[in-house]
Amino acid sequence: MILSENIRSVVPYVPGEQPTETDIIKLNTNENPYPPSPEVTKLLHNRDFSLRKYPSPEASELTSAIAEYHHVKQEQVFVGVGSDDVIAMCFLSFFNSGKPILFPKISYGFYKVWAELYKIPYRQIPLDEDFRIIPKDYFIENGGIIFPNPNAPTGLFLPLEQVESIVAASPDTLVIVDEAYIDFSGGSALPLVEKYDNLIVTRTFSKSRSMAGMRIGYCIGSENLISTLNSVKFSYNSYTMSEIAIKTGVASLGDDKYFHSTLKKIISTREKTKAELSKLGFDFPDSRTNFIFAKHRSVSGKQIFEELKKKKIYVRRFDADGISDYLRITIGTDEEMNELLVQLKNILG
Ligand code: PMP
Repeated sequence: MILSENIRSVVPYVPGEQPTETDIIKLNTNENPYPPSPEVTKLLHNRDFSLRKYPSPEASELTSAIAEYHHVKQEQVFVGVGSDDVIAMCFLSFFNSGKPILFPKISYGFYKVWAELYKIPYRQIPLDEDFRIIPKDYFIENGGIIFPNPNAPTGLFLPLEQVESIVAASPDTLVIVDEAYIDFSGGSALPLVEKYDNLIVTRTFSKSRSMAGMRIGYCIGSENLISTLNSVKFSYNSYTMSEIAIKTGVASLGDDKYFHSTLKKIISTREKTKAELSKLGFDFPDSRTNFIFAKHRSVSGKQIFEELKKKKIYVRRFDADGISDYLRITIGTDEEMNELLVQLKNILG
């Protein structure tokens, strides 16, 4: 009895399936269908990484390249093992007031899990009936705020002036804007970092840079906030970023041409897929991400999900209040989306 009382009890975040079969169409975890930059692959093939030694604890080569890319100071950049690591570190560092932190009720499932893990009180703010974040609902006393922009899994983008209104209304608490999908939309809150010292913007290499397997995330904020994050990180694990992640991250940032060409392809496929899904009787918020959150007007989400799986097409479904009929469909290549549409036509008759 005593032992069990001393053991931390947590309900973990459940990520999308990573099936081992190769003959499937995998549209369930918002991965990029294209390979990372050829510069990354070249580096992996040719480079003799110095694995005998510890990597730079500050990952300074990478923070310097990110700073240059975004025209900020290196001291304003913090990196981690995916943005999950960066956001978890932010929760640990900044959400300590004992007051509830706020995040949207339909949003990234990990926020609730971190809040529970770190015993941070939280309040989930409902979206409106069209899945929109309503800024004024966040103009209340809080211990911090976090939301993705665009939001996940809805895909909806919140215009920058509305993001700013949320940041401006809570000058004494930290606001994290999780921009995991911002490259597919534009309208980043990064310029606001110079104006507001209570703002952190997080980013990832997992989606738009096609490097989910390398685990690289980062955030940008004031020098003061970043210095706090580093102190907390160095109280926990000095070497979060591997030598290979640091070097390949730099290589990816150096190849803007490839980056923009794959972004363009994904956005074009997304817009074509939206038109076709509409014709098949699906409704969806107007996604500005690399996925579409769609619900059929007459057939249940569960049924479509299961039928697609039988055809070896994996999409994501959340068994949660108000969204259980929705499927979150990652944008794959044109060929993958055409096959999805063919199978959907068969399923829907
Ligand atoms: N934020 C959001 C909204 C996400 O969907 C994800 C991906 N699951 C992440 C953060 C974390 O991504 P990563 O750790 O791969 O950077």
